[in-house]
Amino acid sequence: MTEIVYLNGEFMPLENARIPVLDRGFIFGDGVYEVIPVYSRHPFRLPEHLARFERSHQAIRIQNPSGDADWTKLVQELVARNAGDDQSIYLQVTRGVAKRDHAFPKDVKPTVFGMSSPLSTPALEAVEGGVHAITAIDYRWLKCDVKSTSLLGNCLLRQTAADAGAVEVVMFRDGFLTEGSSSNVFVVKNGVILATPKNNLVLPGITYDVVVELAQANGLRLEVRPITEAEVRSADEIWVTSSTKEVLAVSTLDEKAVGNGKPGAVFRRMHPLYQDFKRAVMRQAA
Ligand code: PLP
Repeated sequence: MTEIVYLNGEFMPLENARIPVLDRGFIFGDGVYEVIPVYSRHPFRLPEHLARFERSHQAIRIQNPSGDADWTKLVQELVARNAGDDQSIYLQVTRGVAKRDHAFPKDVKPTVFGMSSPLSTPALEAVEGGVHAITAIDYRWLKCDVKSTSLLGNCLLRQTAADAGAVEVVMFRDGFLTEGSSSNVFVVKNGVILATPKNNLVLPGITYDVVVELAQANGLRLEVRPITEAEVRSADEIWVTSSTKEVLAVSTLDEKAVGNGKPGAVFRRMHPLYQDFKRAVMRQAA
């Protein structure tokens, strides 16, 4: 089945989708995006993704071209027009097409794009064995809470992980944990889950919220507070979370075993809680 995408009001095969080269998304990375996981054809946590999308628009001063009801319809339409029960829906809005100038153009129409890709959740091997991660100084900008398409810092940092055969890069700024290149990071020490506070240095992850809610609902001990680099390096467990990675344990950090080098006891509680929660939400939606 051909991949069907949405561009500025029309659905079309991916290969037919074209944007002008002066689109500010292309020229400046001047846009915002969302990635929504879809399980059994039901979008997961869609209202939360759309609320973050709205906040991203406001942060970069683009008028959100649609309300939640229209975004929801668009997501459902993309899901229906594409193959596979589990999909990853990508939505992007850029400031639009204008003569190249850093300052915002007046009266420009945002470019709206949506596509679907197969959702590839982590392989069993990664869930059961954990994944490798490396560390780096977080040299990105100071608006990491905005889900912006300007991702050069994230791409450069992720490539350092790829070069090292690792899945993710765990980042520190001024001696404190921030996040991964495309995930949030949790730490477990002495049975307590530590989560980074939501501030301008991290993306407020939708999966992060699910993990925090599940910990609280199931009596797992959790503290939300700044986490030092030393705490990360001496952690019993490190997890990365995102809409596509879900919850994954880090088995080695900079080639050193995390805990005993296997996903730890708290991860082995959280992972099934996450899977059960997902299934329960999907059952309700069906
Ligand atoms: N942090 C960054 C930098 C990300 O790019 C992502 C997701 O892509 C996340 C965190 C996790 O966010 P979510 O759980 O909403 O997918």
